[in-house]
Amino acid sequence: MAPGWTREDDAALRVAAQQWLSVRTNDGLDPIHSEDLADFTFRGQRIALIDPQRGIRKPAVLDAALSIRTVYRPEGAARPYQDGTGPDGLIRYKWRGEDGNHAENRALRAAMELRLPLIWFFGVGSALYQPVFPVYLVGEEPDLQQFALALDETFEIRDVDTPAEAQLRRYIIRETKQRLHQPVFRSTVLRAYERRCAVCSLAHPQLLDAAHIVPDSDERGEASVVNGLAMCKLHHSAYDSRLLGITPDYVVEVTPRIMAEVDGPTLLHGLQGRHGQRLMVLPRTRREHPSPDLLGIRYEAFRDTGS
Ligand SMILES: [Zn+2]
Repeated sequence: MAPGWTREDDAALRVAAQQWLSVRTNDGLDPIHSEDLADFTFRGQRIALIDPQRGIRKPAVLDAALSIRTVYRPEGAARPYQDGTGPDGLIRYKWRGEDGNHAENRALRAAMELRLPLIWFFGVGSALYQPVFPVYLVGEEPDLQQFALALDETFEIRDVDTPAEAQLRRYIIRETKQRLHQPVFRSTVLRAYERRCAVCSLAHPQLLDAAHIVPDSDERGEASVVNGLAMCKLHHSAYDSRLLGITPDYVVEVTPRIMAEVDGPTLLHGLQGRHGQRLMVLPRTRREHPSPDLLGIRYEAFRDTGS
């Protein structure tokens, strides 16, 4: 640690960085641009929260890593967190290179040994990150050249061979979905749709969700942008309750029952007015467009309800 720096200073810096990120990201609702991450200061000193050249950030004043980073993988490339889960449900984070004594791996090991909270910057677009924190390194598997990463410092690497451990594994996977996969999915989808509802083009992030096309409870319901649609609360709820469907060629359909009702402006414009219209917003990049196959699966279910 730098001269004059104590463990308390280290802890205070980590807390301050997390609080600053909470404000900057609207409590995790919005991602943050890498340029903005250079603005953080602690006690008058500018301390960059990521290292543009490296996956691991260890400011010179600290002994242990402060943040880790996973770069954005364009659609079609492998998602590191999908194949990086161990049998116990904990995520695995690969060493930098193959030398366990590399300075970055030592910085990670120090964070693990001291159980220090880390910030995980997860790429959701070019130079755009969803911060997830606190995360902890809770174990190391040197033969596999990786650490185990948890959202709770009390977890550890374990064999899953008893019912209690299997239950813990399910809990860990559920936590990971809520605190990591869902915010990353939301930010990726909203970024792709330029923060507008696909159905009506509403542009208020507070009123927008990232809807799954095939639900994530279905094994085909991957947390990928091609299985997502940015939708306002009204259209998301209507889609989930099968009052509104979307054809594989991006046309909105509203159930006959809704079409026959007579009511105020929300029904008239928000629902009936969208029937037969194409989606108003699609991602700029074709490879991020919603998958016609996944839309087809969901559209079948909508037609089967058909009331
Ligand atoms: Zn909408």
